Amino acid sequence: MKSFDVIGSKEKAVAIVEIPEELKQKEKSIAESIMQLNKNVKSVLKKVSERKDELRLRKYELIAGDTNTEVVHREYGYLLKLDPKKVYFSPREGTERQRIAEQVKPNETVLVMFSGIGVIPIAIVKKQTDVYKTYGIEINPSAYHYAVENVRINKLGHKISLICGDVHDVCKKFKEKFDRIVMPLPFGAESFLDIAINCLKENGIIHFYNWGKEDDLFSNALKLIEENAKKSNKKFEILDKRKVLPYSPRKWKICIDFKIKQG
Ligand code: SAM
Repeated sequence: MKSFDVIGSKEKAVAIVEIPEELKQKEKSIAESIMQLNKNVKSVLKKVSERKDELRLRKYELIAGDTNTEVVHREYGYLLKLDPKKVYFSPREGTERQRIAEQVKPNETVLVMFSGIGVIPIAIVKKQTDVYKTYGIEINPSAYHYAVENVRINKLGHKISLICGDVHDVCKKFKEKFDRIVMPLPFGAESFLDIAINCLKENGIIHFYNWGKEDDLFSNALKLIEENAKKSNKKFEILDKRKVLPYSPRKWKICIDFKIKQG
């Protein structure tokens, strides 16, 4: 069996496992061993599908423990309430969230498209307490409700505004422009690049997530940025490009940070 993720606290956590077909007969005893060795793990969920559709959810099967899988996860000094069955959340992306948060400057207005349970807005405001305001847009009502709760638990309501809706519709209504836009939706974020470019201030920065094959990680994403900048009559400058996490053999989640300038 591959390694497994644990989401939650010292008191109550959920383990998320991937069981190969040849170990299916032993899955119950594997789950029980995980719970024996990790006393905080109260439920073991088995992945039974890939992440799918717009909400990027996957199906899980409970193979041992409590049916209530809502937990409170802690990372970098903030708390995140969530149920992995209802929302997207990856505990493996904490370092990447910090990397973004560390770049935010005092007085910036930041937009996080696809904000899920609010983890990136929260990471930003916790790290850069002098940020002017951070907005988050999320289409999954369950994720939005957890985000509202998470902002409340972390006492960050004065700096974070959350909107439940489709980025396509919500962004049309914004009157203000942003210093920085985070686009954490690797599958399909390209169809929102033009919106992001048009919502950005002069010299604003976009963090664009996408996928790349190991032998040619960035060409496709760079082409998308170039096409969309051209369409909006803008110039761009690449600030950084890097691998974030492996997705499947020879395929990586990547991020490109770029600045948008007058064309
Ligand atoms: N930012 C969160 C995080 O890092 O945990 C969630 C990232 S998840 C890969 C992408 C999120 O985008 C999902 O929660 C999904 O529901 C949301 N989403 C997808 N399409 C959307 C749209 N058109 N407008 C707003 N949110 C959307």
